[in-house]
Amino acid sequence: MAVALKGGPVASALTEKTIALAGDLAARGVTPTLAVLRVGERPEDMSYERGAAKRCAAAGVIVRSAALPEDVTQEALMDALEALNRDESVHGILLLRPLPAHLDGEAARRALRPEKDVDGVTDGSLAGVFTGSGRGFAPCTAQAVVEILDHYGIGIQGRRAVVIGRSLVVGRPAAMLLMARGATVTICHSGTEALPEITRQADILVAAAGRMGMIGPEHLTPGQTVIDVGIHQDPETNTLRGDVRSDAAEPIAAALTPVPGGVGAVTSAILALHTAQAAKRQL
Ligand code: NAD
Repeated sequence: MAVALKGGPVASALTEKTIALAGDLAARGVTPTLAVLRVGERPEDMSYERGAAKRCAAAGVIVRSAALPEDVTQEALMDALEALNRDESVHGILLLRPLPAHLDGEAARRALRPEKDVDGVTDGSLAGVFTGSGRGFAPCTAQAVVEILDHYGIGIQGRRAVVIGRSLVVGRPAAMLLMARGATVTICHSGTEALPEITRQADILVAAAGRMGMIGPEHLTPGQTVIDVGIHQDPETNTLRGDVRSDAAEPIAAALTPVPGGVGAVTSAILALHTAQAAKRQL
């Protein structure tokens, strides 16, 4: 029976770090502040915003939420971003995406000031992840994968890791972070053939395909550590589920992150930590 790699204890340990950092900053008259910019009222965005606000509050990080109407113009969006870029009391900016189709998300992403890019979306931050220079911040979800493995003492060096998903938000940066830590990494994606044959070879399997329940027993072998990044609302049961069928994985894998209560909980704790680290860098 797989050990549950719960996100709560990992998030709590990260929050302790953030509290300590926020305490140092308070002594220097600075309160780390994250601006969350949302366009429209997508339930997913609002739920992520609530989770992040709660986790930041527990860590001594202020969250300032700004919401623009669904039909906002590109110009007004860019103005709002520019105002946050210039505001010295704001240390981190999270732009919730995807944006409505009439907006140019690429232009918005590129407009973020790199020092304030606490979710690692700009090219500069991603370059830091790919070169290993340590400049900028890694995307929070990708970093959450590594933080969970480290917290539970699961070795990465020399292990075979298979990452399903090649997005710049999760799959690709997670693969780079695992490789930087000495894993031999295979990235699988929608064009990959014979996926189960590849995933069965993994010591560490990271599922970030965004397909509910796509990982079943045929993808798994005993002893594996499975990190399930997927988050889906199951329309039949109205519960949250991952990319991995937990009923199939639990009897086979050695360890598995639950959904909910796994990667998602850690992601927002990392966002708070990055904001405090950004505030320190901006002193
Ligand atoms: P995305 O849609 O941008 O990317 C999905 C990737 O999976 C693509 O690269 C695609 O090639 C690959 N893929 C799709 N179907 C596949 C298949 N059948 N076989 C192999 N590869 C396949 O999604 P994303 O933004 O990377 O997010 C992935 C998942 O992670 C989603 O479920 C999302 O909700 C979740 N997510 C969770 C958190 C968190 O905090 N836990 C944060 C961000 C995203």
